Amino acid sequence: VVPQDAPYLTGLNPEQRRAVEATDGPVLVLAGAGTGKTRVLTTRIAHLIATGRARPFDILAVTFTNKAAREMKERIGALIGPAGEGMPWLGTFHAIGTKILRRHAELVGLRSDFTILGTDDQLRLLKQVIAAADLDEKRWPARSLAGTIDGWKNRGLSPEQVPAGEAGAFGFGKGGTLYAAYQERLKALNAVDFGDLLLLCLRLWRENPDVLTNYQQRFRYILVDEYQDTNVAQYLWLRLLAQGHRNVACVGDDDQSIYGWRGAEVDNILRFEHDFPGALVVRLENNYRSTGHILAAASVLIAHNEGRLGKTLRTDSPEGEKVTVTGAWDSEEEARLVCEEIESLQAKGHKLSEIAVLVRISAQMREVEDRFVQLGLPYRVIGGPRFYERAEIRDALAYLRIVANGSDDLAFERIFNTPKRGLGDATLQALHGLARRAKVPLLQAARMMSETEELKPKPRSTLRALCQSFSRWAKLLEDQPHTEVAQTILEESGYTEMWQKERTADAAGRLENLKELVRSMEEFPDLAGFLEHVSLVMDANETEGGDRVSLMTLHAAKGLEFDTVFLPGWENGLMPNQRALDESGRAGLEEERRLAHVGLTRARKRAKISFAVNRRIHGLWSSTVPSRFIDELPEASVAVLDAPASFSQGPSRFDRQAPAFGSSYATPGWQRAQAQTAGQDRFGGGGRATSPGRRGPQQIEGTLVAKSTGTPSAYE
Ligand code: ATP
Ligand code: MG
Repeated sequence: VVPQDAPYLTGLNPEQRRAVEATDGPVLVLAGAGTGKTRVLTTRIAHLIATGRARPFDILAVTFTNKAAREMKERIGALIGPAGEGMPWLGTFHAIGTKILRRHAELVGLRSDFTILGTDDQLRLLKQVIAAADLDEKRWPARSLAGTIDGWKNRGLSPEQVPAGEAGAFGFGKGGTLYAAYQERLKALNAVDFGDLLLLCLRLWRENPDVLTNYQQRFRYILVDEYQDTNVAQYLWLRLLAQGHRNVACVGDDDQSIYGWRGAEVDNILRFEHDFPGALVVRLENNYRSTGHILAAASVLIAHNEGRLGKTLRTDSPEGEKVTVTGAWDSEEEARLVCEEIESLQAKGHKLSEIAVLVRISAQMREVEDRFVQLGLPYRVIGGPRFYERAEIRDALAYLRIVANGSDDLAFERIFNTPKRGLGDATLQALHGLARRAKVPLLQAARMMSETEELKPKPRSTLRALCQSFSRWAKLLEDQPHTEVAQTILEESGYTEMWQKERTADAAGRLENLKELVRSMEEFPDLAGFLEHVSLVMDANETEGGDRVSLMTLHAAKGLEFDTVFLPGWENGLMPNQRALDESGRAGLEEERRLAHVGLTRARKRAKISFAVNRRIHGLWSSTVPSRFIDELPEASVAVLDAPASFSQGPSRFDRQAPAFGSSYATPGWQRAQAQTAGQDRFGGGGRATSPGRRGPQQIEGTLVAKSTGTPSAYE
């Protein structure tokens, strides 16, 4: 029994406390950014353990990112002290799905050491599947098939379940068949892709009710953060697990749903109340994160969306600093301005770890990173697949994967002739043939073939040397630290040398990345543990430590908070992103606006928006228009800063005194800028929304809009 004034409880407001103390039965917390949803979840876990209702291993908590999982672990540790009984199952859907699948792999036709494919390998495999179906890869690109299949998987559909009308979507009616063929190939390789991690759990449970019952009983309490971004497969997964004890608590915010493009369904919020009747629905209205102006700006911006559940948000914080908007001549200058501001904050004693730069697309990072490097500003890149998706990293990982698992054919294919060692396609085909006939992995086939006369002497000896190297490296692993072995592999294989010979800036960066790869392995006890981490996390630069600025995409920033947040690139086309608009129209625009809203609401004290009037897109400079979202911000909470010196050689573009928002947004200045640059009518900005009317920052109300609930077949 826990006293009413247990320290972890006293910090909560009454609604939060209600959500924490309603331990039994379904609970749904629907509330805006910074209202303490995540705090409710962590406190709830602490409460369950402290009151003896649950032991840590009775609890399952799902977070959206690995970083969030780590933070939650830390917070729980701080709340309950060093837990004698270990930690709850705590991680992303994918991480937990993996853990479950490894235990029961054989029940779904896999071995427990199955490989989790990254995007790259997935594409290679799909290319093979497309070629095998006699389709032209140019006309039917693997990437597009990958998108289609991922879409089906997100909706919980196995090949047999794909609706007839959709199965023909690709390659002259072959979509469904290709999906099935792809699954066959995966199975033969003892591999899965990300979507499978959940889909196979669903199959496991459907086909083995006893296994399902086991997990249903085991997880007496289930908690889910960022619930608005679950997709159908995740929802089905959750609903199956939670039907046991029905003690499931989900927290979310429809205004922060930013993964619609990846199949997330906000409607899962409504579905929850339907599937878990009698759920306690808690709304939190106090924002504890941001100062008044920031909250006002974010709330007025999001009020432009129509598809909302609507909510009230208030803060007791002072109004604080206004949200700033700064224009730069080009993206390089923008990066320079951002870094200057960071340096000046640093000079005033602000911690770098309390500063974040949030970009719309990862390609925006390079310029900012370059500037950080030039200035020697320590930074870290958080989230996303970028680091591990880099070619040099994928290559290095391929070597490591084969050493860890000699039957990893995809890895073998990848580095078979990288660096170039004179092994051509003919040799590879011969290997494939032998591997098929003898039913052995490629590496084994290579070993066999290097002992026969089938190949010419040159490739034969090369192949033999390669096989011997792999045996030697695997052997080294037995008594040397895995980091040293990795270093040895990269050197002896000639891979490092390949980049050293190429004396370009690009190659230097790649060598640096390879070093970083080996460095990051230190955090893991062994190679297997490291590879597991890689396949799951795919975000190496999350490495903690030191006082660093955080750089990440808006998508990766969900759930996080910083004192100061820089939001560069607010230009039409980039933010809102043109592709999202082209693909999804109005819905795309609303999702982009939610993304902007997520960006603003990450800030505690300072939000700094910027845009460049010239930006290099695919290598070509083009002039750009400030984002329509800038026009949608409430004038009273925004300060438009002077144009930088290099830009305003003529009269200043901005007039501090003039009302700079709404339809009259700095028009005269813009026209001057326009005359200086393109001479075209590009700065008028199409489709400006009218100002939503000003509201005080202390109380901002959303509209209540009922939403339709489509019911895809997979839910049934
Ligand atoms: P998001 O939607 O962005 O994920 P959230 O609703 O999960 O936000 P939290 O991250 O849990 O919000 O909380 C936001 C901030 O407010 C945190 O710094 C948290 O510690 C603080 N906070 C939450 N509840 C309270 C409270 N009752 N008193 C003081 N501070 C609080
Ligand atoms: Mg949160």
